[in-house]
Amino acid sequence: MAQGLRLVLFGPPGAGKGTQAQLLRDRLKITHISSGDLFRHHLGQGTPLGLRAKEYMNRGELVPDEVTIDIILDKVMSIPDDDGFILDGFPRNPNQAQELEKVLAAESRNLDKVVHIDISEPELARRIGSRYICRACQSPHTVGEGEDANAKRCDQCGGELYQREDDAPAALKKRIQVYNEETMPVLGFYRERGVLVEISGENTVDEVNKQIMAVLNACTHSEKT
Ligand code: AMP
Repeated sequence: MAQGLRLVLFGPPGAGKGTQAQLLRDRLKITHISSGDLFRHHLGQGTPLGLRAKEYMNRGELVPDEVTIDIILDKVMSIPDDDGFILDGFPRNPNQAQELEKVLAAESRNLDKVVHIDISEPELARRIGSRYICRACQSPHTVGEGEDANAKRCDQCGGELYQREDDAPAALKKRIQVYNEETMPVLGFYRERGVLVEISGENTVDEVNKQIMAVLNACTHSEKT
């Protein structure tokens, strides 16, 4: 059976990683692993992990590696070889990238592509200002100026939409700083391994998706039906 694609979607907050990951998940039938969604799920359930992660998330900081790495890598390694995955929000620093590489290599696996979706800071701030998340399924939505967020429901599951606490200006500023200082060095790590592709996130969702699919079609794996 064909081996599933193993992807990382990389980019600053608001680049559209979550939206693109959902489109790719539906199209390629591969598992979407979002570290942020996982933490938000635990936070919503009030688990010890959620409570631990909350203080870091609300400040816009990274949750410590000793909390993050094991739970994400356990999920990654639970996926059968022929299923494939899209990692969204992980790795976020060079140590996480190294640990991911180590566990994959132990099973003779590697990443097929790391897709860097880049957008400018003004565009990122504009998008995050209008970003609402579904409380039930975590799908991201855009609520335009003049639209009433309370009147809108999730287009995937009908759930309630809300604005993330860490999308508020102070936490967002910190997240951008953390991205520039701690996360950006991961790009060099993947560039050296020859798996990095760069895509502009400043196009429409469809256009960005087309560009990603073009890159992936160049990989040897085929789409599953
Ligand atoms: P996201 O939804 O990807 O923007 O993630 C929301 C928040 O969850 C981040 O600002 C971090 O506090 C935390 N988080 C998500 N992924 C990671 C990660 N790989 N390492 C550390 N913290 C993370």
